[in-house]
Amino acid sequence: MVLGMGRSGQAAAEWLLSHGAEVTMFDESQSVEMQKIARGWEGRGAGVLLGEERMVGMKFERAILSPGIDPRKAVVRKLVEAGVRMMGELELGWQACLCPMVAVTGTNGKSTTTELIAAIYAAAGKKAVACGNLGKPLSEVAPLTKELDRVVVEVSSFQLETVETFCPKVGVYLNFTPDHLDRYCTLEEYRVAKEKIFRNFGEKETAILQKGLGVKTGKARRVTFTAEAEGADFTLNEGWLSCQGVRLMRQEETQLRGPHNAENLLAAWAVAEADDISRGAVKKAFENYRALPHRCEVVRVRAGVTWVNDSKATNVDAMERAVAGMTGGVILIAGGKDKGFDFSGSRKSLQGKVRGALLMGEMAERMERAWEGAVPCRKVKSMEEAVERAAEMAASGETVLLSPGCSSYDMFQNFEDRGEKYRQCVVALPEEKKRK
Ligand code: ADP
Repeated sequence: MVLGMGRSGQAAAEWLLSHGAEVTMFDESQSVEMQKIARGWEGRGAGVLLGEERMVGMKFERAILSPGIDPRKAVVRKLVEAGVRMMGELELGWQACLCPMVAVTGTNGKSTTTELIAAIYAAAGKKAVACGNLGKPLSEVAPLTKELDRVVVEVSSFQLETVETFCPKVGVYLNFTPDHLDRYCTLEEYRVAKEKIFRNFGEKETAILQKGLGVKTGKARRVTFTAEAEGADFTLNEGWLSCQGVRLMRQEETQLRGPHNAENLLAAWAVAEADDISRGAVKKAFENYRALPHRCEVVRVRAGVTWVNDSKATNVDAMERAVAGMTGGVILIAGGKDKGFDFSGSRKSLQGKVRGALLMGEMAERMERAWEGAVPCRKVKSMEEAVERAAEMAASGETVLLSPGCSSYDMFQNFEDRGEKYRQCVVALPEEKKRK
């Protein structure tokens, strides 16, 4: 049984079918689009069940769980109660993988760091693929791993929830701050899921983690990083990316800005050191790396105002880090779907820096109340309105920053869609602007 027919579930089904398994797939959606996908799989010999009630009375040996499906859902619980062994898509991909693996987790910075690590391997002339949460599921890449030197996998807490034997050669744990409180009942549950990245680590594995995370790493070799000047193996010292006093390059020589990105760079470098990759290759990769879209990406500079798209900031920490990374005053466009965050903790870090906030979506009102007296707020109904108001408010030397601190699903398809709408609105602003 493959639970979930999104990209991960379909990748798992593909692998299982090609290895002779008898596969039934399930999705709760009965949409026209899903029915079309279902017909495709039926044509390839898989059984497909759409809609929960159809599962009744069927027997399975194992079930593969897609990360998007909450294991607490009735459909999953019923299978577990019936004695069906549950396995996550990440665990399946891990078991199918034929080359050494590097895995990256953390609340923020996973995609950036995963890409940076893959870029280092490429610069060193090694065949490596970045996959997992950021694009292709691991089980889709697994059949290719015979030909690869390394696979670099971005793993989310949802994927880690169901690991058993998962044990990459190197594991990176970037940071931990509140997120996903719409899926987890407590922050502790989220923490427990994330820490599973090191669960099977022994002497032969390397655990790379942010200083002060307080995560157990067993007998693994432990390497730490921080954007502060001291107290870890990899540090940011007077603007230099440094490893135990040895300087590699200045962060300024890369395109990545802010202390949070310094940590992503340091973590990626630590992976390279653990894997005996030359510093020359690391430097080359860092010099050439360009930020991924929707992550503090400069969209336009207009009349002295810089317009930045950080639509991927879907939690409070990412939003705060983005604001902290901007020079000069900020007009912040934020808000979105409610994930259970309390925004009052950001008052201090935003006050004085954010000159005005334009708030949209489900969370707008709660954010306005949380920031009352610290940040002047105004509610807006659409991205168009937000961009128009921001253009009126921003003065030369300031930044308009879309960094929502919330997910996008209340008003947009996903964070990419939200970022694209922002980009379109910003690009559509006329050239001339009154100077303030
Ligand atoms: P993830 O894959 O974990 O969501 P991304 O690299 O896509 O991470 O970045 C997501 C958001 O987090 C962006 O808004 C980015 O600016 C911010 N960010 C990136 N790296 C870090 C970090 N190390 N700490 C905090 N925020 C970060």
